[in-house]
This record gives sequence, C-alpha cells and structure tokens, in this order.
Amino acid sequence: MAIVIDRDQGIKSELDDQIGLECPYCGVYAHMQPQSVPDASSILRDKPKHVGLVYKCDACNAPVFLRFAVRQYEDNKVELYRNFVELERPKERFAFSYLPKHTEVLFREALSCYSNNNFNAFASMCRRASISAFHALGEGGKLRAFEEVMVAQDIAGIEDEAFAPVKKVLFSTGTHEELPLLNRAQAGILLEVLKDMFYQCFVRRGKLTRAIKVRRFFVTEANNDSVQSA
Ligand SMILES: [Zn+2]
Repeated sequence: MAIVIDRDQGIKSELDDQIGLECPYCGVYAHMQPQSVPDASSILRDKPKHVGLVYKCDACNAPVFLRFAVRQYEDNKVELYRNFVELERPKERFAFSYLPKHTEVLFREALSCYSNNNFNAFASMCRRASISAFHALGEGGKLRAFEEVMVAQDIAGIEDEAFAPVKKVLFSTGTHEELPLLNRAQAGILLEVLKDMFYQCFVRRGKLTRAIKVRRFFVTEANNDSVQSA
C-alpha cells in the first residue's frame, strides 16, 4: 500500500503499514509517525519528482527526515513509493578512546563513509586504518591481527568466498587500485570483522589493564588503611 497525500485529507497510510527503522538519534528500532507533511496543493502545483517528510521517532520523539520518490500524480492527490532515503543515518559506535590516535582518526572516517552508504570509500579507509594499526602494534602486529581475524571468521562461520574480499582489504599488500569493489553485504562483514580486530588488539588490552590497575589501587588503599588502624 502506497503513501498518499491528499489535497483535502492530508497524508493517508494504513496502521499496519507504519514505517519502522533504526532511529539516527536514539539508535532504537522504532515506529515513525508522520510529523510534518508538505502542503498537498503546492506539491500538486509543482509536481516534484521527490517529496520530503519529517517523521517522529516513537522512542525518543526526535524528528527524522525521509525522502520519497513520487509514484504518480492524480487530480487531487499524490502517491509516493514506499521506499525512502534516510537523510540522516544512524552513526556506527565504537570505543574509539582505546585506539592509537592515528588509527582512531582513520577509523572514524571509515565509519562515517559506511553510515553514508559509501562502501568503497569505506573499504579504502579500512585499509588505511588497519595499516596504521599494524604500525602501532609494532613488530609482528600484522600477523597477530591476521590471526585474530581468522578466529573471527571461524567463530562467525563466514564462508571463505564471502571472506576473501575482507581479507584482501585488510591484509593484501597490493595498491588501493587493486582493492575489490564491495557491496553492502560485504561491507557489513568488513565492518564487523574490523571492529572485532580492533577490539581484540586494542580495546580488550586497554580495558583489562585499566581494570587491573583500579583493583590494585584499591588493594593498596585497603592495606594502607589496615596498617594505619593496626
Ligand atoms: Zn529515536
């Protein structure tokens, strides 16, 4: 069932036909209600190819802007395709503070490319981010990272064929021009694998050493207290 904006009755869409998507503000997969609908008479006069509507997230009430292509114009109403373009995409999150500074800058840009559906720009930035990480890890770092990625492939049960482009992006020594073209599905695998690799190589170590430092601190404090009270 299409979305219809009627000159007299405004927007019409069935209840079971609601829009649900991941909110770019709160990150919850929520229903979206139309909040701001363009004036039907001006659309019918100008007949644009695309129409923008502002929806409201049911979970956090934030405004979410969606763009629809027009399916057809009739005398008193305009019918829109149900597919839409999200003008703001949810941001990918990561514990960036544990990454080496140079790697962090590159990986943030990689994730921004991914959020904007630029999957090959994303792949190029993943290559740069991973090279920077290998440098930061020092001698043997690339091999260690490779082993982590092999474990990730095994745990997630990803087939060799689907995994080959991911490995090529992260570990091949060829030039940028030789990087494989990635589609959405392959970019999604690359995203999760690289997040896991960075987690294993940096975040896990950082969190663990920080946590142990805190434990030692409290043990020392407790010992000092017991010495003083003795
Ligand atoms: Zn929300």
